Amino acid sequence: MLIKTTLACALAALSSLTMQPAAPALAAGDEAPAAGNPAPATVVWISLDGFRWDYFDRGARTPTLDRLAREGAFTRALAPAFPTLTFPTHVSLYTGVPVSVHGIAANGYFDQRSGQVLRYPPEAALLQAEPIWITAERQGVRTAVLDWPVSHRQTGEITASHFGDGYNPRMPDDARLHQVIHAWRNDRGETPLRLLMGYAVATDSPGHRYGPDAPEMIGVIEEADALIERFLEKVLETARDQLPDGEELYLVITTDHGMSLVRHACNPWHLLGLDPDNEDARVITSGNIANIYLTGLEPESARQRAADEIIAAAREHPFANAYRREHVPARLGYNNPDTVGDVVVILDRGYIFSSRPEAPIVPIEEIGGPLGMHGYDVETNPEMYGFSVIWRYPTPLGGLDLGRVDYTQIHPTICRILGIEPAPDATGTPLELEPAAQPAAR
Ligand SMILES: [Zn+2]
Repeated sequence: MLIKTTLACALAALSSLTMQPAAPALAAGDEAPAAGNPAPATVVWISLDGFRWDYFDRGARTPTLDRLAREGAFTRALAPAFPTLTFPTHVSLYTGVPVSVHGIAANGYFDQRSGQVLRYPPEAALLQAEPIWITAERQGVRTAVLDWPVSHRQTGEITASHFGDGYNPRMPDDARLHQVIHAWRNDRGETPLRLLMGYAVATDSPGHRYGPDAPEMIGVIEEADALIERFLEKVLETARDQLPDGEELYLVITTDHGMSLVRHACNPWHLLGLDPDNEDARVITSGNIANIYLTGLEPESARQRAADEIIAAAREHPFANAYRREHVPARLGYNNPDTVGDVVVILDRGYIFSSRPEAPIVPIEEIGGPLGMHGYDVETNPEMYGFSVIWRYPTPLGGLDLGRVDYTQIHPTICRILGIEPAPDATGTPLELEPAAQPAAR
């Protein structure tokens, strides 16, 4: 089980450390270090997909993640962006901004600029916000990003030094993570790679198949820990060869969302009274979210009337929330005009959209699953929280419990570790990882 120390306990323990001697003054000509970080370091950032925050409480043995938390800094409350779907949340982690800014509206959506339906789009050119690899490369920090959503086939003047040309869904997680090691070991750049990003499916697919509370998940969670153990061994071996003398290594592990039990599936067309063949009201669903695009409807009054009718149909169901794009609650950050639908329908916990039911709503067993899903708002469904561990080598961080962490904080935290400025739109507050930077407990 990942350390359960409360933030208050962690702060109390740290109060005894606040009397450390002051750091020696810089000699003339020395470069001042970035605030909160003694020297630029190398970061290996791994995403474990769909690792719910409380997977550590199921009785699974997770010795490696436990060790990383004990020696590093961790949170059991990493709040993902909305919707808590793999593509938008990963993009929000590496850009530090919501869908309204980066534009990756769901795992599948309609792009009004190109007129194309995009499903699991790999092309980084779709990003409307700056990803951390560009933030780093334009400040002279070389990067590798392998298999993070929407990081492939990079074009333009500045790109990551290493990136993929497409996602192979059949690749096992060990091989997927090994791409990072391969890039690191075989890099021939003039300066070393200092930000390396890798991705693993980990607990996500089994969580969908079995549901988050199934006993099968214990073995799945233990296998995810073993995956990290094998990867860590390779990281340390490579770091010994590649890391500049005296430079620290940070291993950052984040997850993109949690997982909830599914009880019912809804056919979006039946539920909303729409015709699947009507391109004037195009419905694209991901998990519990339906975006409805009324792009073909003219004039504007016809579009508004159609939107009102769809919203009224959705609101006949107590588990469905429906909004015009401009009325989606602002805290969700979900109103990108290019990619979010004219109408957005969001189902409550326990409900998902599926094209398979013949009726508007059926028990999930009738269509054979999935028994787990995500996409729900973390503020109303805490099962969407993930976890994160930040581990430093060779100097440990000391088991700091970071408390609740917002997704907007990860991009600026990694930039601070790298000694660079965050992207202009990434205005989240970086995490304080150094004990001396924490306020003393009273
Ligand atoms: Zn995911």
